[in-house]
Amino acid sequence: MTPLADPVPGGRPGEVERAVALASELAGRGVHGVVFAYVDTAGVCRVKTVPTGKLAAAAAWGVGMSPVFDTFLANDAIVTTDVLGSPDGDLRLYADLDRLTVLSAQPGWAWAPVDRITQDGAAHPGCSRTFLRRLVDRAEREEGLGFLAGIEIEWAVGLGAAPDDTFVPAVSGPAYGAIRQVGLSDYAADLLAACAAQGLDVEQFHPEYAPGQFELSVAPLDPVAAADRSVLVRQTIRAVSARHGLKVSFAPVVQAQGVGNGGHLHLSAWYGGENLHGTGDRRYGMTAGAESFTAGVLAHLPGLTAVTAPSPASYLRLKPSQWAGVFTAWGRETREAGLRVVTGTAGQRGRAANLEVKPVDLAANPYLALGCAIAAGLDGIGSAAVLPEEITGDPVRFDAAEARARGVRRLPVSLTEAVAEFREDEVLRAALGPVLADAVTAVREGEIAAVDGLDDERVAAAYRWKY
Ligand code: GLU
Ligand code: MG
Repeated sequence: MTPLADPVPGGRPGEVERAVALASELAGRGVHGVVFAYVDTAGVCRVKTVPTGKLAAAAAWGVGMSPVFDTFLANDAIVTTDVLGSPDGDLRLYADLDRLTVLSAQPGWAWAPVDRITQDGAAHPGCSRTFLRRLVDRAEREEGLGFLAGIEIEWAVGLGAAPDDTFVPAVSGPAYGAIRQVGLSDYAADLLAACAAQGLDVEQFHPEYAPGQFELSVAPLDPVAAADRSVLVRQTIRAVSARHGLKVSFAPVVQAQGVGNGGHLHLSAWYGGENLHGTGDRRYGMTAGAESFTAGVLAHLPGLTAVTAPSPASYLRLKPSQWAGVFTAWGRETREAGLRVVTGTAGQRGRAANLEVKPVDLAANPYLALGCAIAAGLDGIGSAAVLPEEITGDPVRFDAAEARARGVRRLPVSLTEAVAEFREDEVLRAALGPVLADAVTAVREGEIAAVDGLDDERVAAAYRWKY
């Protein structure tokens, strides 16, 4: 089976036999059930599970799930579009057996991401994983381009015993401080052990800036695998936290004020085995293609924000001077620009150079976020977009005239503004297709209505434990 193939009723060739063998191996390892995970338009990971003995049947015929979940809000209310949100119909969830992972911190369980198809075997137009796979496939077919992607994960750890309407950091101590690493030493070691046991290639783990906040990053993979991995990393962090009696929040902000949880995307485009971001003769080793790719992402950042920062709480994070990158600007290793050009260290640039997209949080559906970022970059390549001058330092210091002269704009300051930008972005809408594009606008508008009249503290509280 190739990971670039869509599922079919009855199972792809060889898939059912493979599931039979896998199920018996899983049973031998004490696995009783398999979690089928997907991420909805609001960014919430939702699951079904099957007993291990039903894995082969699921490989053949999928597992049923209502299409209504495409238009769920984070609070489980349901909105509708022309085609989505109806109580009618059924979709089939097909697990990607290539990604099936025995969950180290959830004894008895394995996990797999799913694609969704209709009962008649057609791709479901609302399936975000299929969307990303198709886009990656198209870039390869039409441009010969491949991608490596990674998603940083930041989260806050709270005391499990604290009431739901409060957040009490599970550890004190300074940002990046040894006190925090020691304070949650067993937790952190269990997390690294669980990741290693699951084959998750952790690059680093550290205490972050905000109270009780940590960050973990993993090695880059092809975009679909990177999105899958970000879902699995979060499942693992949740499970390890639960075993330690701790609560975990991946919400854009845990408290209304201060630095939030980012989910920065790292992306590099490759052609013929060469990294376009580190093997060229343009600025910082970019090829002309990498510059245009970067220019494309930059041009689409305002509309992209509706996909990468999808929650009303996202706009409590997206503030200047908090490393969230809230300006349409790029710079080398600049943490306040929307795009940070990462060159890597001398000696490994050809491999490591990439583009970091910062106005992204973990409320974002990673498949939609990566797919739309790639679509924006491809638009830049297709139109030979010209990358403007870089900036250094914090763009917040530019007065209006300088910002205008440099083409530096503040990104949307609210979800309402982001949706307005998204509505005007024909490139992103066309890449998503009408069903997903309408789902994005309907769900965002639903979220906006859900927090109407709430102050910042209440908005933060409304989403604190949702992601
Ligand atoms: N927590 C910051 C954010 O909201 C990012 C910090 C960092 O640069 O790692 O994106
Ligand atoms: Mg960080």
